[in-house]
Parts: sequence; C-alpha cells; structure tokens
Amino acid sequence: MNSFENLGLSKAILEAISELGFETPTPIQEQAIPILLDGRSDFVGLAQTGTGKTAAFGLPLLELIEPQVKIPQALILSPTRELGIQIADDLKTFSKNILNLNVVNVYGGASIEEQIRKLKRGAHVIVATPGRLLDLIRRKAVNLSAVEYLILDEADEMLNMGFKEDIDAILSSTSEEKVTWLFSATMPAEVRRISKNYMTDPVEVTVGKANTTNKNIEHQYYMLNNRDRYNVLKRVVDFYPDIYGIIFCRTRKETQEVAELLMKDGYNADALHGDLTQVQRDRVMRNFKNKSLQLLVATDVAARGIDVDDLSHVIHYNLPDELEFYTHRSGRTARAGKKGISIALVTPREERKVKDLSRRLKADFEQVKIPVGKEVCERQLMNFMHRVNEVEVEEEEIAPFIDGINEELENLNREELIKRFVSLEFNRFWEYYKNADDLNLKSTTQRRNKKEGSNGEDRLFINIGKKDGIDVPRLLNLIHKQCGVRGKNVGRVDLKGVFSFFDVDNGFTDEIIKGFAGAVIGGRKIRIEVSGDRPSESGHRKGRSRGGERSRGDRGRGDRRDRGYRKDSSKDRRGKGDGKRNFDRKRKEA
Ligand code: AMP
Repeated sequence: MNSFENLGLSKAILEAISELGFETPTPIQEQAIPILLDGRSDFVGLAQTGTGKTAAFGLPLLELIEPQVKIPQALILSPTRELGIQIADDLKTFSKNILNLNVVNVYGGASIEEQIRKLKRGAHVIVATPGRLLDLIRRKAVNLSAVEYLILDEADEMLNMGFKEDIDAILSSTSEEKVTWLFSATMPAEVRRISKNYMTDPVEVTVGKANTTNKNIEHQYYMLNNRDRYNVLKRVVDFYPDIYGIIFCRTRKETQEVAELLMKDGYNADALHGDLTQVQRDRVMRNFKNKSLQLLVATDVAARGIDVDDLSHVIHYNLPDELEFYTHRSGRTARAGKKGISIALVTPREERKVKDLSRRLKADFEQVKIPVGKEVCERQLMNFMHRVNEVEVEEEEIAPFIDGINEELENLNREELIKRFVSLEFNRFWEYYKNADDLNLKSTTQRRNKKEGSNGEDRLFINIGKKDGIDVPRLLNLIHKQCGVRGKNVGRVDLKGVFSFFDVDNGFTDEIIKGFAGAVIGGRKIRIEVSGDRPSESGHRKGRSRGGERSRGDRGRGDRRDRGYRKDSSKDRRGKGDGKRNFDRKRKEA
C-alpha cells in the first residue's frame, strides 16, 4: 500500500495531514499527487465527491506555491460558497506549517469590500466562486496575471449551475502559460469542451467509473402516493432515530416548506437554500456540521460541496431530473469509506426514473417497504433501549437522589420496573402510530387488478355519451371539474351513443354522484347511478343516486376532498401526518 511519504510531499505537509489522521492516500490522491507535483501538466481528474479530491489537488498545489513571491499564484474556482469555504479551510489546515502562505476565499453574498481588503493584504491562493471573481476582476481588485495554477473543482456542477460564460471569461483572462487542473464527478459534453478548448494534452485520471456512484451507498426507494410524500418522509425519519442526513428538494420554496413542516412537527431540521442570507446559511451549516442539527433540508445548489462526514442518509424528497444531481446528492453520504443510504421517495409515475438511474449508474436500487406504525415503534423502542445501555451515569450527581428513588420504587420488581420505565417512552409514540395508515402503495399487480375493476371499484352509468361529443379525456375532465375526482381514480371507460359507463375507485363513488347531482350538461339533466353490473364493496347498488357513508375499507384512497363526509380518523391523513410529535428528538439533546 502506498503512503503519503512515497508520493513526494514535504515534511511540513506530511506533518499537517498526519495530524488530520490521513494515514494512507485515497486512490485519487495516490494517482494525482505525483503528477500534479510536477507542476507542468494539465490534468483532468474524474472522481466522485467525497473521494479526497481537495487534498489530491491541494497538497501538491501548496508544495508548488512560493510564499516569498507575494502575488496570487493559484486560483481555485468552486461552484458554491460553501464548497469554497471548505476548500479554503482545508488548504489553511494543510499549510499550517508553511510560513506566510495566504489563502483568501472570495464568494458572493458577503461584503466585497472586506474581500478586497483581504486580497490587498496579499494572497498566494485565491479560492473563488465564478461570479464574485468576475466582479473583482471588473473592479480591478484582483490581479491574475501571474496565476500559474488554475483549478476547476466540481466543474460539471459549475456548468450545471450556469457558470459557463463566467468560466469562459475567467479562463480566457488568465495567462496562457498557466496549467489547469480540472476535477469533476462526471464528464458531460460541456466539461469535455472545456478540457478541449482550454487545456493542452491533459493527463486524465479516473477513479471508479465516471457516472457510477460510490459502492458504499445503498440506493433505496419507497413507492408512495404523491399526497403522502411528507408523511412518508416523517415515517422514514422516525424509522431511523439516529438519522443524520440531508433531505433534498427541487425548489427553494419546497425546501422551505418541508423544513418548516418538519420543525413544526417537532423535528430537529432546518433549511438551506439560496433565498437565505449568507449569515443564515453559515449558521445552518455550522449547526449541521457540529450535529446540533439532525436534518438539513436543502436545494441541490445550496448543498453543493457540503463536506460533512458521517451522514447516515440522503433523502430525495423528489428525485432530480439530472443524473448528475442524483450522483452529487447521494455522494454526500458514504464519504471517506463509510456506508450510507440514499432514499428516494417516488410515485408510480416516477418509477421509470429510478429504473433509468439504476441502468445509467449501474447501481441496484432496492424498493423498500414503507415502515408501518408498529415497525416504527419497535425501532424507536429498541433505540431507546440502546441509549439506556450506552448512557453514562453521573454517579456522583445522582447519588444523593438514589435513596429517595429506591423508596419510591420499592414495591416494583425488576420486570415491572422495566415495563413501566419503557412505557414512559413507548406510550408517547405508540399514541401517534397506533392508528397510522399503511402508506405502502399496493403492488403493481394489485393496482392493475384494482384498475380492472376486480376489487374495490364501482361501475357508474352516466346519461351522456359519444353523441354528446364526449370522449375519454372530456369525460375525465368533466368528472374532475364537477366532482374534484382526478382521472387517475377512474378506471375503464365505455363510451356509448347517449350514455357511458366508467369504473371508479369506490372511495369516490359518493363524491361523483354528489358532484353531478343537479348538473345540467348540454341542456340535459345529468343522471348518474351505480350500475348493477358489478357487486360493489361499499354497498352501492343500482339506482342509488345519493351516497351513504363510506365503509372503513375505503379510507385513504385517491384525492379526496372534504365534501361533508365523515372525516377520516387516521392520523396520517391530509399532511397533518403522524401528529405533532412530542417525543424527544434525540439529536437535539446531542
Ligand atoms: P473531499 O473529497 O476532498 O471533500 O474529502 C472527503 C473527506 O475525506 C474529507 O472529510 C477529508 O478530510 C477526508 N479525507 C481526504 N483524504 C483523506 C485520507 N487520505 N485519509 C483520510 N481521510 C481523508
């Protein structure tokens, strides 16, 4: 096995990284460091996030910088402020034994004057986000004429984020003599173009296969109804009491909403997205990194480059459209050789996205059953037991109370004591989960059977048909408009001349009959009734045109509106979810 000593690094650097606990180089470090130390070749490094890229370019770069020459010699471009801050911090740590080597970090959203002052004091290495750097170039506050090393970190992401023009401008405004090192998790055409246009015969190193994800990540997905998305999220979080993870949303709005709901429901969560001020973002990141925050709800952009080890889970509240985004998201977990779970919440419509990801990433995606209430309670309970086992007893502090406690509990034997003590914790979450719905979607076959009307569907007769200009989309539209029931809840439609039949999930029968009551379409009074063709689960029979109450078996299907029907008693309904939790969020205590 190779060692850092063999890679040609100086004592100053070796000591610094040894203090960080870096014992053996990661594959990208092992391959890149000797090449980059030479300082003459352009370089393309393809490696996923979390593989040690920062040290792979940072260590040789610091060896190449001449501290006595007091002008910027290296420029590192990073897609986000957060990643920039991390790179600068890492470089400062790596170079702590090198005298007078200055690393300055500049990024948008913070005072430019302050950054100009720092640059004036002297910078050997500048770490910058593209937009802010261009601002500084325009203000003539930064001199890049002597830059010998230009590093593009997470190049694919910079291009994804629309920095193409900025990067072109920066690349063409720096000296032709410089060498360029480009790092990327993936190699889309745009990154290829940059390497072709701005680099000369770059040495290319790939660690793992491009477009594959880290093997330590377990990819899972839960199949759900869209309306249950938030409740499933809570289930997952409750099922993993020790979760420390990022929940990815697609928009800033959704990010904020999910974070607010979680906070309202008593979870230790916060949001990270571009609408927050830099001060807010820094605060959230600080809390997340020091683990006083358990769940970070983030947009793809804001979470770029977040370097937090030990994340147990990444949750895709919604899957991203881009493969690269999925790779970057899931790459936030399973860092530095650890294991991690990436969980996607998907509706049946989105399942093809999972299949596509699986094929393109050459990774297995396992469909996992959404835990039911009992399983969540069991998990929570066992976690509690584990904590009992692990808790450190403050012997001295507790000693004065022991006699009183013994006296109070003297009539309870061990078994009784354990049961009561466990119930204190158990009762609280059992209360929330005892009536919770099973949020699992029926299997495809079950769903198909249901669609075919073999179970749980009513066949409705309506006195309009082809002669009234009705076709299937029009009929579905009409049902939606009149009754608020969506097309997805309607099964087979048989259009006849002046009447039609359609199957509908029998949880909606009453809603449809009520919705059409008194309606007049094309001058004709609508008549709608349950057809006698098929026995119905909910007891609707031919000729009945006003609904009775729904059977319990109908609960929880489809997009119901509250039209005066009996309210569902289940706690998982309508976004209120598993109830406002009052049982402890363990992380909060940490
Ligand atoms: P990076 O891909 O540069 O963001 O690094 C991912 C994580 O791995 C960071 O927390 C680094 O501190 C850590 N790391 C990088 N190189 C090594 C190494 N050779 N040994 C142990 N940890 C490392």
